[in-house]
Amino acid sequence: MRDNSWESKADEFSLYGFTDLPSVHERGTVVVTHGKGPYIYDTHGRQYLDANSGLWNMVAGFDHPGLIKAAQDQYARFPGYHAFFGRMSDQTVMLSEKLVEVSPFASGKVFYTNSGSEANDTMVKILWFLHGAEGKPQKRKILTRINSYHGVTAVSASMTGKPYNSVFGLPLPGFLHLGCPHYWRFGRPGETEEQFTARLAAELEATIIKEGADTIAGFFAEPVMGAGGVIPPSKGYFQAVAPILKKYGIPLIADEVICGFGRTGATWGCETYDFQPDAVISSKNLTAGYFPMGAVILGPDLANRVQAASEAVEEFPHGFTASGHPVGCAIALKAIDVILNEGLAENVNRLSGRMEAGLAQIAQNPNIGELRGVGYMWALEAVADRATKTPFDGKLSVSERIANTCTDMGLICRPLGQSIVLCPPFILTEAQMDEMFDKLDKALKKVFAEVA
Ligand code: PMP
Repeated sequence: MRDNSWESKADEFSLYGFTDLPSVHERGTVVVTHGKGPYIYDTHGRQYLDANSGLWNMVAGFDHPGLIKAAQDQYARFPGYHAFFGRMSDQTVMLSEKLVEVSPFASGKVFYTNSGSEANDTMVKILWFLHGAEGKPQKRKILTRINSYHGVTAVSASMTGKPYNSVFGLPLPGFLHLGCPHYWRFGRPGETEEQFTARLAAELEATIIKEGADTIAGFFAEPVMGAGGVIPPSKGYFQAVAPILKKYGIPLIADEVICGFGRTGATWGCETYDFQPDAVISSKNLTAGYFPMGAVILGPDLANRVQAASEAVEEFPHGFTASGHPVGCAIALKAIDVILNEGLAENVNRLSGRMEAGLAQIAQNPNIGELRGVGYMWALEAVADRATKTPFDGKLSVSERIANTCTDMGLICRPLGQSIVLCPPFILTEAQMDEMFDKLDKALKKVFAEVA
């Protein structure tokens, strides 16, 4: 029924993305007006602890004075520009230098986008461009994993290993999805974690041999799968797949959109899991969510080869109007400083053990099958039967009910499959962490009492 409320207007004029429509029609949209620290406030004045940092990205909270000032100062100095035709802003130059300095590479080159999806899309185009220029135009297939999330553009959605993209007729041809390195869920009876990892590595090599290495442009992987349900790699996974990719001349691209800049406790997820990619994809924390921005950072080998390929045709014909936007770059420079030098990544390191211990306590609930995660990214997976790992009947919408119950209690967390995901801002205090534990525990107990 149409009335003049924020909820009705939201419903009438918005095409919602990734939103369960029956649930939002019943419950109404939470219309957010402002934030303070890790909290957001709605049009009714209700307060919510956002244990999802917005969408993983608002790691410095919702009112960081340094980030707001960086934006205001740059708007006053030079509010917008591009990076085409031999021109770019001074902020863009400074950010690229900084990004290469803090990257996993000794040297490299940066290309800017407005989002993580576009950064993955751009990386695929870079690989297609490069292999074509090097006389291998058929080297175009992209390898990713089941349950991966790489974005929503036609290409990055094709990379994403989720079945929901079939409604768009995706993936496009040539996007292949390998096994997901989630041992608890996909390990076979009697198989050790090491054997499971070896099986996935053998699958990769068999796929390369079957398809032909000269048809495969690159392999993309999130160090920890985020939107797939917070899935850290099985033991030794990257140490097993990286040499195979190297042997067949297939670039390894780390999609660090979630992991990059502190989420795992290190600057990069590839640092936490000790592997060397050929390029990294960054977004989200790059600006602490204060500006839409993504970046492709090429390591030295790819940077040199793409440079040579570009010189040969006199340009790399790609770019967005807002690539390297000076306000975004000024904010990113400040965000990197805040995360790496003003103690935010340090907080994650210092308190991730506390977070794990608190969640482990909650995970003693017999309807929690697995607690998994690292740093400040964790998931609790609900099960109807812990011994057999049997999920709840999908019709019960257990994780959605838990998330809705949390919302009613003033805690935002995210349902993903049958898991509940917690990825709070890095500024979370110990008292706020306890508030998160307390509300989550109560919500889980309430919902499991209703459905179990
Ligand atoms: N890659 C990963 C690993 C992501 O988690 C996301 C977003 N959740 C993306 C890419 C896409 O980023 P965006 O939503 O900014 O397009």
